[in-house]
Amino acid sequence: MNDYKLLINGQWVEGACEPFKVINPATLETVATCANGTTEQLDLAVQAAQSAFKSWQHVSHAERKAILHRIADEIAANRDELAALIVAEQGKPFGLAIGEVEGGIAWTRYTAETEIPVEVFEDTADKLIEGHRKPLGVVASITPWNWPFMIAIWHIMPALRTGNTVISKPSGLTPLSTIKLVEIINNHLPAGVINIVTGERGIGSGITAHPGINKIVFTGSTPTGQSVMRNAADNLKRLTLELGGNDAAIVLPGTDVGKVAPAIFGAAFLNMGQTCGALKRLYVHESLYEEMSAALADIAKQQVVGNGMDEGVNFGPVQNQDQLDLVTGLVEDAKIRGARILCGGAPLDKVGYFYPPTIVADISNEAPLVQEEQFGPVLPVIKYADVETAIEMANGIEMGLDGSVWGPDTQEATTIASRLECGTTFVNTHAEIQPNVPFGGCKMSGFGVEFGLEGLLEYTAMQVVHIKK
Ligand code: NAD
Repeated sequence: MNDYKLLINGQWVEGACEPFKVINPATLETVATCANGTTEQLDLAVQAAQSAFKSWQHVSHAERKAILHRIADEIAANRDELAALIVAEQGKPFGLAIGEVEGGIAWTRYTAETEIPVEVFEDTADKLIEGHRKPLGVVASITPWNWPFMIAIWHIMPALRTGNTVISKPSGLTPLSTIKLVEIINNHLPAGVINIVTGERGIGSGITAHPGINKIVFTGSTPTGQSVMRNAADNLKRLTLELGGNDAAIVLPGTDVGKVAPAIFGAAFLNMGQTCGALKRLYVHESLYEEMSAALADIAKQQVVGNGMDEGVNFGPVQNQDQLDLVTGLVEDAKIRGARILCGGAPLDKVGYFYPPTIVADISNEAPLVQEEQFGPVLPVIKYADVETAIEMANGIEMGLDGSVWGPDTQEATTIASRLECGTTFVNTHAEIQPNVPFGGCKMSGFGVEFGLEGLLEYTAMQVVHIKK
């Protein structure tokens, strides 16, 4: 069994209280124990990050760019080990975990290469006015358990690229791949530029209220995001909040079901449905309803559910007991309401948090399985007769991360897609993200974006330089 420690000011240290266990969701065995940091240790990490910021902010862009590429090289050299760690703590199939690591490498390199231009507002005979971007100081990254490695990269790399120092706080359910990532990053940086404080005893809330932290980039649930925002007010921390999603997709009449069903299935069940931007509510026109529901159920039945390290498995467990209970409860409620379960519909009778891919038909839009974020391997398929009603149902919830419209006429589908209330609206695809395109939610799915230049700018403050000539 491994013991994972805290990194404070370049030193790996024990937590000051009893370590906590990290459980493999496929076997329920303990993978490792992890340090439980205290708020005093968080203070030390913040002091280290503040001190390191004094010089790190002045390191040139060229040097920071080169460092990020060297970090990407070392991540690549450790790809398989990192992927195995992700499977052990998170549960996803090994091939998907490899994709998570490779995605992390791609995001690191793209972030390294992104240049921040100086904006020129006026350059006339008597004055020059420019906007320069400066780092904020100490950035805290708080991450969830679904894509633990990649989301940590999304937070940490832009913070470092722009000259900030970092405190990382991963989910206590999946801290291991982030600790390994921080170890790699720290190999290339001066002490204190990157720190990690794991712990389940108030470290998250301690971070949000800490006066020495200048920005929080938070990915997690909407209720926790609300608490982060409340706590962050005292020293006016900058916030990026990437919160919950419950994405709608509308399938228009005339859609080629055979062609789109695999893509819809892939977008709905990505990472066993535990993806903020997964397709979670499928509105299908009545003319295609039976055909689409049956096609999705056929694909679901072909999935091989099991331990993500086993050969041939392409569908892992859900990550934790609470998640399993949530999904089970919502599907049981749907059954009571008269919904038709086309496949799956109950946890598997074996060790591990296994819930098979489940397609639920004949479900009303009002059912909690549709209205609430279930964040699991279930897709409710809702029938509609006219597209205005479908749009109303799609927009009728508080969340607004992504949405999509599927149809044979791209122009018509694009017009309808533009009416969806969400951060990204897709046409004939869903859940595609890339490092050059800003990503973020609206409504209760949060604010601020990640990725691209806009994402990078969120780690900076503008300083206007006004020169009289
Ligand atoms: P969560 O909100 O329970 O936890 C997220 C992180 O916050 C964890 O590290 C947790 O330890 C920490 N935390 C808990 N209480 C805290 C507090 N009071 N103050 C500060 N930090 C605290 O979320 P989760 O269950 O780990 O992740 C699932 C959620 O994340 C889903 O709602 C999903 O939609 C969302 N998510 C959103 C995105 C996005 O980009 N919008 C991406 C991935 C996941």
